[in-house]
Amino acid sequence: MANIFRNIPSVNELLESPQLKKIVESVNHQVVVDGVRTFIDDLKETISTATDEIEIPSPSEMADKIADWLHVEQKEYLRPVINGTGIILHTGLGRAPLSKAAIAATVQIASGYASVEVDLANGQRGQRVKAVEKLLCELTGAEAAVVVNNNAAATMIALATVAMGKEVIVSRGQLIEIGGSYRLPDVMECSGCKLKEVGTTNKTHAADYSSAIGEETGAILKVHPSNFEVVGFTKTVSTKELVNIAHAHDLPMIDDVGSGALIDFAQFGLSNEPVVSDSIKDGADIVLFSGDKLIGGPQCGIIIGKRKYIDQVLENPLMRAMRVDKMTLAALAATLRLYRNEDTAQQEVPILRMLSMPEANLKLRAEKIVQQIQGASWLESCEATESQSMLGGGSLPTQKIPTWCMAIRPRGSSVNRIAERLRSSNPAVIGRVQKDTLLIDMRTVFPDQDMVLVEVLEALDNQEQGPSPSPESVG
Ligand SMILES: *Cc1c(COP(=O)(O)O)cnc(C)c1O
Repeated sequence: MANIFRNIPSVNELLESPQLKKIVESVNHQVVVDGVRTFIDDLKETISTATDEIEIPSPSEMADKIADWLHVEQKEYLRPVINGTGIILHTGLGRAPLSKAAIAATVQIASGYASVEVDLANGQRGQRVKAVEKLLCELTGAEAAVVVNNNAAATMIALATVAMGKEVIVSRGQLIEIGGSYRLPDVMECSGCKLKEVGTTNKTHAADYSSAIGEETGAILKVHPSNFEVVGFTKTVSTKELVNIAHAHDLPMIDDVGSGALIDFAQFGLSNEPVVSDSIKDGADIVLFSGDKLIGGPQCGIIIGKRKYIDQVLENPLMRAMRVDKMTLAALAATLRLYRNEDTAQQEVPILRMLSMPEANLKLRAEKIVQQIQGASWLESCEATESQSMLGGGSLPTQKIPTWCMAIRPRGSSVNRIAERLRSSNPAVIGRVQKDTLLIDMRTVFPDQDMVLVEVLEALDNQEQGPSPSPESVG
């Protein structure tokens, strides 16, 4: 074993190779040294745990592999992606893309100073939420509003404000987990509330709530089961009924509607998504939702409702820890302004535009791209095909949206390898792997990305097709 190790070049020897010298010049000496050391350690590990004899690559081959690996390592972690998954609110890809208006407002406000907490009318100190409160009230009918980092934060601060140390009544059918890290019972515990479960998984009746109310009760919470559906024999209690029960005992009724639809999504063929203004109309005291789901704005959590409760939230010390920055405020205000006219919103908010894109348009675009990349040497076949997109972001998981995709089958390389090469392209492209086919769903690709997509797909012809560069692949 020791003999084999002696054949591995030293760190200094590898650093002298032209490939790595070039990287030292453009990156940093220590980064390259660390890369070489890691590579050598991994190689020794591979050799000592191998069951077969391992051929040690030449110093020049090693330098090539290390250079490739460092090249990948040095890329920014956060990079633009062309979303070919067909999942419109893809949490892994940052949920809602912003409208042009929101981007312009963000850039303008981020570039300099802004009236974040100064009321320019009188020069006095103001509340930062003023930038969006009026718009939120106008669009939802609420008395007051406040904005925090996300809906998880909105839930925490709302509960901690009105029900700290008290019981909060929730139906067993609404104790949701979203995306693994959001579990309602845990969020409630962090807010200092005691969860009081009522009803069963499929049925909860008004009487279940009423009989659970006691000295310890601080609020009734309704949660929209965004990412699952219970079908069959079910019973839930409406917001209106819950408001009546809560108010009969002088308690606030909190409604976590989740995705925050400002308009009716039935027009896009998506049913059962609660509309925020309906909850206010039904009398909910506090309504919670995300800014980057169905609104199509920046990541934030929106709390609207009765002035009395919103003022209490504003005074909670947690508010300072959860407040949003000026860029979020600017993007949210610009997004909300688009909703003053529903047609404008449909044309300008990217997720609404994607949802209303006619199938014929998607088919045409898919066919055009297919035509342009036909004949690429890495392609076995490529064709336009019908498929289904999804809303994503934990919303409406059972409802599919008809769409058109490019179905790509590679030649001489696995579909996973092609998917991997597309992920490391610039810009990265992410599709859906389905058996031996990579699907790129045109519904989530912006029309102005079609040409870029063609270029990325054509460029695969010119790249080497070896295994991915990592020390593990040596031997
Ligand atoms: C998505 C969602 C949340 C979490 O919202 P974030 O903005 O991701 O923190 C909470 N409740 C419901 C009902 C949701 O749908």
